[in-house]
Amino acid sequence: MSLEHYGVPFSRTEDGKIYQRPFGGHMTEFGDGPPVQRTCAAADRTGHAILHTLYGQSLRNNAQFFVEYFALDLIMGDDGACQGVIAWKLDDGTMHRFRAKSTVLATGGYGRSFFSATSAHTCTGDGNGMVARAGLPLQDMEFVQFHPTGVYGSGVLITEGARGEGGYLTNSEGERFMERYAPNAKDLASRDVVSRCMTLEIREGRGVGPKKDHIFLHLDHLDPKVLHQRLPGITESARIFAGVDLTREPIPVLPTVHYNMGGIPANYHGEVLNPTDAEPDRIVPGLMAVGEAACASVHGANRLGSNSLTDLVVFGRAAALRAGEVIDRAAPIPAINKAQDDKIMARFDRLRNANGSKPTAELRDAMQRIMQEDAAVFRTGETLQSGVTRMSEIYGQLPDIKVTDRSLIWNTDLVETLEPGKSDGQCHGHSGFGRGAA
Ligand SMILES: Cc1cc2nc3c(=O)[nH]c(=O)nc-3n(C[C@H](O)[C@H](O)[C@H](O)COP(=O)(O)OP(=O)(O)OC[C@H]3O[C@@H](n4cnc5c(N)ncnc54)[C@H](O)[C@@H]3O)c2cc1C
Repeated sequence: MSLEHYGVPFSRTEDGKIYQRPFGGHMTEFGDGPPVQRTCAAADRTGHAILHTLYGQSLRNNAQFFVEYFALDLIMGDDGACQGVIAWKLDDGTMHRFRAKSTVLATGGYGRSFFSATSAHTCTGDGNGMVARAGLPLQDMEFVQFHPTGVYGSGVLITEGARGEGGYLTNSEGERFMERYAPNAKDLASRDVVSRCMTLEIREGRGVGPKKDHIFLHLDHLDPKVLHQRLPGITESARIFAGVDLTREPIPVLPTVHYNMGGIPANYHGEVLNPTDAEPDRIVPGLMAVGEAACASVHGANRLGSNSLTDLVVFGRAAALRAGEVIDRAAPIPAINKAQDDKIMARFDRLRNANGSKPTAELRDAMQRIMQEDAAVFRTGETLQSGVTRMSEIYGQLPDIKVTDRSLIWNTDLVETLEPGKSDGQCHGHSGFGRGAA
């Protein structure tokens, strides 16, 4: 309701109500009943519509945006409270210290620690890295959701709404195999179930394509009007990323990393937690985390489609309200903590001038492939042990990293080095490439 009141242009039914469609795992009677139509949608571009509406509302409320500022690290006080961040302005190379009574991390997930992910290239878990470098814990990092339908090869998402509108999966024998695994929910079983079934089909030799390594998603039986009205975004994505005309051909798909349930432990106010045995709810003063970066534990080990709104709209709002309550407006802003500044800038300078023999892109690619191969849909003791061994080997090579561009303006080589780069000379607190997941 709040989103509608903010002006999100939801699709409508004939009688003017918000259009809702079924998503995976949205069942009745604990899975025994039929699917329920619960997901509000603006065609198949709901997130896009929400993003632009909230941006407009933020401007209306005089929120100030610092665009192209790349946050490097948290400034932590000697008393353990967060005092702000240091950020690098990518378009002019200047450094900025944000001294704050309350800092809210909303840096997104760490999908890009895997080779194939639906999320943006910025989703490398920077906020998680900052928290780890500050010596604070992360939680449930191994809870990584695979979405069944990433476009084979590119990983671009084909929304679950496609199956919600009647799309179905087939193997190399043309069989609608989900009917065998989940006779009731079929193709709308929850994401982990469908991803596992697809992987089993491929493992047992029933994948499609020359390498038998993916699955087909069919929408070619649907009325083109439905595709045009309800699924215009994926019609375009299928054409661009798979070269497929949805009205005639199936889309080649593969389970792809989509969402991170784990992250920075936070309570329902968005306050970051640093629990001890004696104080399990101990908070980190001045630090909050919301959205996919945070782990407020509402999803357990798997999130139902469309439920990330809880992380964003519910906890985002809760964090703002809490900050409004706890901030002491009369108190001075935190003093400059020179030792912390020096530490953050020393790491920056060290990586900027890194002159080893291993280009960042090479190490990064190796790490992403290890995650994809050893910590994917099926994880066994053997694959995880292999992942740990291989990742430790790559991690050991980080001191030999090489940055070729030493400039301060639009230096994406350095940005990509700062993401996985070591915090110091030890194996402590490396960012981005979720240690817990390996
Ligand atoms: C293709 C796709 C479709 C999805 N569809 C749905 C859906 O239908 N329903 C649903 O509920 N959820 C969906 N999700 C999940 C949901 O969109 C995400 O969980 C959600 O957008 C995360 O929001 P966020 O604000 O936490 O992070 P993000 O939207 O990822 O934003 C994080 C921001 O932080 C910035 N950032 C990162 N590091 C730094 C740094 N060091 N300094 C400065 N800025 C930084 C990034 O540039 C980015 O702008 C979808 C996700 C994807 C990828």
